[in-house]
Amino acid sequence: MEYRTFAPTGQKISLLGFGCMRLPRLDPDKPEIDVELAQRMVDYAYEHGVNYFDTAYPYHEGLSESFIGAALAKYPRESYNLVTKLPTWLVESKEDVGRYLDEQLEKCGVDYFDFYLVHSLNAERVKKIEQIGVFDALVEQKKLGKIRHIGFSFHDTPDVLEPLLAAHDWEFAQIQFNYLDWELQDAKRQYELIEAKRIPCVVMEPVRGGMLHTLTPEAVDCFKAADPEASVASWAIRYAASFPNMLTVLSGMTAMEHVTDNIATMEPFRPLSDEDRKVVDEALTAYQKAVTIPCTGCRYCMDCPAGVDIPKVFAAYNRYATGRSKSVLREAYEAIPESERAHNCIACGACMSQCPQGIQIPDEMKKIAELAAK
Ligand code: SF4
Ligand code: SF4
Repeated sequence: MEYRTFAPTGQKISLLGFGCMRLPRLDPDKPEIDVELAQRMVDYAYEHGVNYFDTAYPYHEGLSESFIGAALAKYPRESYNLVTKLPTWLVESKEDVGRYLDEQLEKCGVDYFDFYLVHSLNAERVKKIEQIGVFDALVEQKKLGKIRHIGFSFHDTPDVLEPLLAAHDWEFAQIQFNYLDWELQDAKRQYELIEAKRIPCVVMEPVRGGMLHTLTPEAVDCFKAADPEASVASWAIRYAASFPNMLTVLSGMTAMEHVTDNIATMEPFRPLSDEDRKVVDEALTAYQKAVTIPCTGCRYCMDCPAGVDIPKVFAAYNRYATGRSKSVLREAYEAIPESERAHNCIACGACMSQCPQGIQIPDEMKKIAELAAK
């Protein structure tokens, strides 16, 4: 396993982090985790040197925190980093900060979190946390020994990130970073701002919710021509991990083969060469020729008051757009119950402010409903 040093303490952090947002499920439509399989995945990762496990209050509708706390309990507490996040959208007062933190500690069965983030900040939420005084409340909790390091995860533009970084003594920052978002979400500038602040960066969505694993046949061909043995996802992991200020790259692993593939990518880790970067550029150009909706499947936009299953509709459309096959669209779309399809959207806009990707959801729903009707 490749490690990076967390400078303030000298701790060695595994360059691969285990994300607990997309654990295997017993039923794909329900949040319950396949605990037996997920435990084997965690054990395999731990035994191969992964020491950074990232969860959050809403993952698996609250079940992820309890799972990962229990899954790691058999290992010495100092041998792993347990990481979770404050549910920013639920916090209304300084007291709420301590209340949610205590609830999370209890759910995970631990006395402290190694890294604790203010979850999913954007311009609106930054305003809210500043009014409440969330950072100072977290510093109090740190003094009580319940948190070791304070950071935030972020989904907005560099203009919002810059003053946020300047406002407090954050110890790390987590951003969405991958070769598609390098320009699409200006991840380049975000990375530079964090580096200039001299704090480490944690990568989320290196494979963009699986999007950079499937790509398009033409883009996959670029990667396979360069290295027939390497998985397509491994290119995305290596891309993010090749930047020197990355502390760890979180991968939300759903199957054992994701764990073994990611670990193989880090044993040994090969940073991208100039030649490799050209291959990524070629694949990206091929991929961008297909019009897709940049949905990562995070489900933050759910539930929709009109019953639309937003991420499922987008996943069906993206399968069509990247394969250009109407039969694929029909098959994927018909697997969604009629009451959850795009035409049910009443354009209320309630989902929009929840979407970290800034997708114009009602517009896309209209477009997909028209396409499906044809
Ligand atoms: S805009 Fe459409 S998809 Fe979004 S919450 Fe409203 S009805 Fe649901
Ligand atoms: S539409 Fe946005 S919020 Fe909803 S699942 Fe996709 S990326 Fe997440």
